[in-house]
Amino acid sequence: MDGIIDFQSVSKRYNNTAVFESLSLELKPGIVTGVVGESGSGKSTLLQLINGLVRPDFGLIKVFGQPIPSENLPIFRRRIGYAVQGTGLFPHLRAERNIGLMGKVEGWNPEKTESRIEQLMLLMGLNLRLRTRYPHQLSGGQQQRVGICRAMLLKPEILLLDEPFSGADPLTRVAIHERFLDLMVAEPATVVLVTHDMQEALRLSSELVIIREGKVLQMGSAKEVVNNPNDEYVEKLLGNTTHAP
Ligand code: ADP
Repeated sequence: MDGIIDFQSVSKRYNNTAVFESLSLELKPGIVTGVVGESGSGKSTLLQLINGLVRPDFGLIKVFGQPIPSENLPIFRRRIGYAVQGTGLFPHLRAERNIGLMGKVEGWNPEKTESRIEQLMLLMGLNLRLRTRYPHQLSGGQQQRVGICRAMLLKPEILLLDEPFSGADPLTRVAIHERFLDLMVAEPATVVLVTHDMQEALRLSSELVIIREGKVLQMGSAKEVVNNPNDEYVEKLLGNTTHAP
C-alpha cells in the first residue's frame, strides 16, 4: 500500500495562528520517517492530525488508504500506537499495568496480555523484574521503554512517536535507540518519529521530513537530505553531520 498516511491540502489553525496551510504530504509504509523541526513548527499537531485527535479545518487526511473516520475513532486508533514525550505513564499503575492497558480494553485474557507484556519488555531490554515497579521507581530511560512497549501492545500498523527519547541522557538514549531498532526489525511498522534532534532522526529513520513553521522544507531519504540539503535551514539543522547513514 503506497501512501499509508496521505495529507491532501491540509490546513489547521489555532485562533490566529496558522499551523499548516495547504500541507500535502505522503508517507511511505513500513519504514521510519523522521519529522524534524524546531519547537513550534507543528510536529505534534501533525501526529495528532494522523490519529484524529485534531481535525483539519480544510483538506483531507487519508490513513490506511481511507479518510479518517468521523465515527468509531477508538477502532481506528487501535491500529495506531502513540507514545509521547514525558512518557505519559499513569503514575498509580505498575509498569505491567501501564503496558497492558489496551489489552484490557480489547478484552484480552490475562495470560495473553501477560505474555505480550513479557515479549515487549524483553524486546526493549527491560528486566522482567521491573514489571511490578511504579513509574517513579523506574529511571527516565526505563520509563521511556515502558512507554514504547505500551504503544506497541496491540502490534499497531502505525506508530506515532512524539519526542519519545528526549528525556534520557545521551548514553541511555543511544541504548534505547538500539533497542528500538531491534523492535522495528522484530515487529515492523510505519513509524512517524517527531524530533528536534537531527542526529536522532538520522540514526533511526530511512526518510526525513524537515519542517519549519508548518512548511515542508525538504523531504527524501536520509541519504538524499544529508548529501543535498536544499535549504540553509536544513544545512543548519544537519550541523556537522558529514556522512550519510
Ligand atoms: P511542535 O510539536 O513542533 O513543537 P506544535 O504542533 O506543538 O509544534 O505547535 C505548533 C503551533 O501550534 C505552535 O505555535 C503552538 O503554540 C500551536 N498550538 C498547538 N496546539 C495548540 C492548541 N491546542 N491550542 C492553541 N495553539 C496550539
